[in-house]
Amino acid sequence: MTYTLSGGTVLDGRGGRIPQGTVVLRDGRIAAVGAAGQVPESLEGERLDTTGRTVMPGLFDAHVHVLSHSGARPYSPRTWPVTTFAEEQLLHAAANAHLALECGVTTLRDMAGGRAEVALKHALDDGVLPGPRLVTSGFIGMTGGHGDMFFPPSLTRRPFPVADGPDACRAAVRAHVRDGVDLIKICTSGGVLSLGDAVAWRNYTDAEVAAIVDEAHALGRRVAVHAHSRAGIAQALAAGVDTIEHGTELDEELAAGLAAAGCYLCPTLTISAYLVREGASHGIEAEALEKARAAHARHRDAIRLAWRAGVKLFAGTDSCNAMPFGQHTSELAALVEDVGLSPMEAVVAATSRAAEACGLADRTGALQAGLAADVLVVDGDPLADIRVLEDRSRIAGVFRDGRLLVERGLRRR
Ligand SMILES: [Zn+2]
Repeated sequence: MTYTLSGGTVLDGRGGRIPQGTVVLRDGRIAAVGAAGQVPESLEGERLDTTGRTVMPGLFDAHVHVLSHSGARPYSPRTWPVTTFAEEQLLHAAANAHLALECGVTTLRDMAGGRAEVALKHALDDGVLPGPRLVTSGFIGMTGGHGDMFFPPSLTRRPFPVADGPDACRAAVRAHVRDGVDLIKICTSGGVLSLGDAVAWRNYTDAEVAAIVDEAHALGRRVAVHAHSRAGIAQALAAGVDTIEHGTELDEELAAGLAAAGCYLCPTLTISAYLVREGASHGIEAEALEKARAAHARHRDAIRLAWRAGVKLFAGTDSCNAMPFGQHTSELAALVEDVGLSPMEAVVAATSRAAEACGLADRTGALQAGLAADVLVVDGDPLADIRVLEDRSRIAGVFRDGRLLVERGLRRR
């Protein structure tokens, strides 16, 4: 199938802007991008008039937990994951993925997964269900670590697997890679939503982190690290990890270190603000809310420091059981309003920069001939007002791999 989109402003996802551009999509890929008159408009297929609109790469939400509640009925974020069959949760995951697509997201990076997420990824890639591409991670945590402490110790059902000691950590990486995950996710500090731990707790020794990073890299997998504390960020940086998630207590020295190492940072500002604003009404316990308030107070300053130091930021919300899916583009507004990125820089953080961080830069994240036709048509100008992306009614069209999966009033020529 061929689509020619012409007349609108084109943002290439790498900072380039063409005021009146043409984008041709053919057989799932971007065939051509350029100014009007420079690109031969295809006479085959559909010709779409994007005048007054913006054509840009599909967005990333690079930090989500897709296996989360998606229904309309009230639920407990704490107990639903352990009182519901995994099969039922997978149906919710499919709905979450579809909701993200409706918001303009064509790539999700899941941050604590396993076989269910790999299964969903395959179904989405096969076109069984309409949805974004899904980058899957295999989660590994220590006994008593951030993942393990999400659920009461008395429960035998523990959704986040544990491995202790370098050899067991290596074995866990190997098992995840055998199952087909795209990357490995670990924690080097405690967390906000876990109960009974402290954010400052060490999660994993240097030897365990080194074993995980060595094994993952040997098997061609990136390592993403949940780290709030200064010590946890420093430990992850020293071990040569690929991305840091959250980065709440970053200081100038660590920011300089991250920038020098080329380590990417996914701040997840959206959940940080959400928990303080709406956590209580969403059933989050007082203990977790107290940790959330303390983290939120430092978070913005830390991310501003990182941005000023030249750390490569990319967009992720941490949508999960504690913060429902559907708010994926809020992270761009947070990067602009709270951190000081320009709207164009925020678009880059949610497209080409996120693709680099996920190891997908040769496949998606920019409007460039040869890349996958993951394309968004927005009824408005995100550079004038980044929040137009938050208005779902203005997401006029979403293509994934050249398939038009969301359509709200596209105009045919
Ligand atoms: Zn997360």
